[in-house]
Amino acid sequence: MDTNKLEIGQEVWIKSGIYGKKAKVVEVTERGVEVELLRAEGPIGLKYGIRFDTSGRACDSRDIYEGNMWGGPDPRIPGTHEFGPWELDEGPDYMPECTDPSCTLPRDLKHRHTI
Ligand SMILES: [Zn+2]
Repeated sequence: MDTNKLEIGQEVWIKSGIYGKKAKVVEVTERGVEVELLRAEGPIGLKYGIRFDTSGRACDSRDIYEGNMWGGPDPRIPGTHEFGPWELDEGPDYMPECTDPSCTLPRDLKHRHTI
């Protein structure tokens, strides 16, 4: 992922292991990009933004994000407990939705069953 190729308004996927969420690029700088999660997929709160560095790895986003943090050595970074910080991925068709009726994973997190 080269964040310099991203454009404002572009839809991207962020992923953490088997989980994925759709987001929109809202800022592109030399240091990386800022995305905003779609309201339907974001946390319950007012702040939906996540910053990524130029390699596409989530950075400190405490001031713009109210969802789950990674919970690893750096608690300022959004992610999932199982798979770590969110990473940017090519969009917009990367992540299929799970259709397994007996799936026990959280329904509010889009996911697939292989990494
Ligand atoms: Zn599933």
